Amino acid sequence: MGKKLLIPAGIAVAAAAGCAAAIALWKMAPEGEVACVYQDGKEIARIPLDGSADGQTVVVQGENGAENIVEVSGKRVFMQSASCPDQLCVKAGWKDRPGSPIVCLPNKVVVTVEGEKHGTDAEVN
Ligand SMILES: [Zn+2]
Repeated sequence: MGKKLLIPAGIAVAAAAGCAAAIALWKMAPEGEVACVYQDGKEIARIPLDGSADGQTVVVQGENGAENIVEVSGKRVFMQSASCPDQLCVKAGWKDRPGSPIVCLPNKVVVTVEGEKHGTDAEVN
Protein backbone atom coordinates (compact mmCIF):
# COMPACT_ATOMS: atom_id res chain seq x y z
CA MET A 1 0.00 0.00 0.00
CA GLY A 2 2.73 2.44 1.00
CA LYS A 3 4.55 2.00 -2.26
CA LYS A 4 1.43 2.56 -4.32
CA LEU A 5 0.89 5.89 -2.60
CA LEU A 6 4.46 6.97 -3.20
CA ILE A 7 4.37 6.55 -6.97
CA PRO A 8 1.81 9.24 -7.87
CA ALA A 9 3.29 11.54 -5.23
CA GLY A 10 6.70 11.16 -6.80
CA ILE A 11 5.39 11.92 -10.25
CA ALA A 12 3.53 14.97 -8.96
CA VAL A 13 6.64 16.33 -7.28
CA ALA A 14 8.74 15.72 -10.35
CA ALA A 15 6.15 17.42 -12.54
CA ALA A 16 5.85 20.42 -10.27
CA ALA A 17 9.59 20.83 -9.90
CA GLY A 18 10.42 20.33 -13.54
CA CYS A 19 8.16 22.47 -15.68
CA ALA A 20 11.00 24.23 -17.47
CA ALA A 21 13.03 21.06 -17.61
CA ALA A 22 10.06 19.19 -18.99
CA ILE A 23 9.75 21.63 -21.85
CA ALA A 24 13.43 21.19 -22.65
CA LEU A 25 13.09 17.43 -22.40
CA TRP A 26 10.08 17.50 -24.67
CA LYS A 27 12.21 18.93 -27.45
CA MET A 28 15.11 16.56 -26.92
CA ALA A 29 13.15 13.38 -26.43
CA PRO A 30 9.52 13.80 -27.28
CA GLU A 31 7.18 11.60 -25.37
CA GLY A 32 5.38 9.14 -27.44
CA GLU A 33 5.23 5.70 -28.82
CA VAL A 34 8.00 3.82 -30.52
CA ALA A 35 7.45 1.03 -33.02
CA CYS A 36 9.80 -1.87 -32.34
CA VAL A 37 10.45 -4.45 -35.01
CA TYR A 38 11.59 -7.88 -33.90
CA GLN A 39 12.84 -10.72 -36.02
CA ASP A 40 13.20 -14.14 -34.44
CA GLY A 41 12.98 -12.54 -31.01
CA LYS A 42 15.71 -9.97 -31.66
CA GLU A 43 15.01 -6.27 -31.95
CA ILE A 44 16.19 -5.04 -35.33
CA ALA A 45 14.65 -1.60 -35.53
CA ARG A 46 13.04 1.12 -33.47
CA ILE A 47 11.05 3.84 -35.16
CA PRO A 48 9.61 6.81 -33.27
CA LEU A 49 5.90 7.28 -33.81
CA ASP A 50 5.99 11.02 -33.23
CA GLY A 51 5.53 11.90 -36.88
CA SER A 52 9.25 12.39 -37.58
CA ALA A 53 9.55 9.01 -39.27
CA ASP A 54 6.61 9.52 -41.58
CA GLY A 55 6.96 7.33 -44.64
CA GLN A 56 9.88 5.31 -43.27
CA THR A 57 9.94 1.63 -44.08
CA VAL A 58 11.82 -1.26 -42.56
CA VAL A 59 12.44 -4.25 -44.78
CA VAL A 60 12.83 -7.46 -42.80
CA GLN A 61 14.41 -10.25 -44.77
CA GLY A 62 14.42 -13.77 -43.43
CA GLU A 63 15.15 -17.30 -44.44
CA ASN A 64 13.90 -18.79 -47.70
CA GLY A 65 13.14 -15.42 -49.22
CA ALA A 66 10.82 -14.34 -46.42
CA GLU A 67 10.26 -10.62 -46.47
CA ASN A 68 8.15 -8.24 -44.45
CA ILE A 69 7.91 -4.54 -45.08
CA VAL A 70 6.94 -2.46 -42.08
CA GLU A 71 5.85 1.07 -42.82
CA VAL A 72 5.31 4.09 -40.65
CA SER A 73 2.80 6.69 -41.70
CA GLY A 74 2.52 9.68 -39.46
CA LYS A 75 2.16 8.32 -35.94
CA ARG A 76 1.08 4.85 -36.95
CA VAL A 77 2.80 1.69 -38.04
CA PHE A 78 1.56 -1.17 -40.14
CA MET A 79 2.72 -4.19 -42.10
CA GLN A 80 2.72 -2.88 -45.62
CA SER A 81 3.41 -6.24 -47.20
CA ALA A 82 4.62 -9.69 -46.31
CA SER A 83 5.63 -12.85 -48.08
CA CYS A 84 3.81 -15.08 -45.62
CA PRO A 85 0.94 -17.24 -46.89
CA ASP A 86 -1.63 -16.20 -44.28
CA GLN A 87 -1.22 -12.40 -44.52
CA LEU A 88 -2.52 -12.10 -40.98
CA CYS A 89 0.11 -9.49 -40.19
CA VAL A 90 -0.96 -7.35 -43.14
CA LYS A 91 -4.59 -7.71 -42.10
CA ALA A 92 -3.71 -6.64 -38.55
CA GLY A 93 -3.91 -3.07 -39.77
CA TRP A 94 -2.64 0.09 -38.13
CA LYS A 95 -1.11 0.29 -34.68
CA ASP A 96 -0.50 3.54 -32.88
CA ARG A 97 -0.45 2.58 -29.24
CA PRO A 98 0.83 -0.18 -26.98
CA GLY A 99 -1.34 -3.22 -26.96
CA SER A 100 -1.74 -6.06 -29.37
CA PRO A 101 1.36 -6.41 -31.52
CA ILE A 102 1.47 -7.17 -35.22
CA VAL A 103 2.67 -10.74 -35.47
CA CYS A 104 3.85 -12.62 -38.52
CA LEU A 105 4.24 -16.16 -37.29
CA PRO A 106 5.50 -17.71 -40.54
CA ASN A 107 8.29 -15.16 -40.86
CA LYS A 108 8.95 -14.78 -37.11
CA VAL A 109 8.45 -11.04 -37.30
CA VAL A 110 6.76 -9.06 -34.56
CA VAL A 111 6.02 -5.34 -34.53
CA THR A 112 5.13 -3.84 -31.20
CA VAL A 113 4.31 -0.33 -30.14
CA GLU A 114 6.03 0.63 -26.94
CA GLY A 115 5.18 3.77 -25.05
CA GLU A 116 7.80 5.94 -23.45
CA LYS A 117 5.43 6.50 -20.57
CA HIS A 118 5.01 2.84 -19.79
CA GLY A 119 7.16 0.53 -17.73
CA THR A 120 9.13 3.27 -16.05
CA ASP A 121 9.32 1.93 -12.53
CA ALA A 122 12.98 2.93 -12.44
CA GLU A 123 12.03 6.61 -12.33
CA VAL A 124 10.37 6.14 -8.97
CA ASN A 125 13.48 4.91 -7.18
ZN1 LIG B 1 2.58 -12.46 -41.98
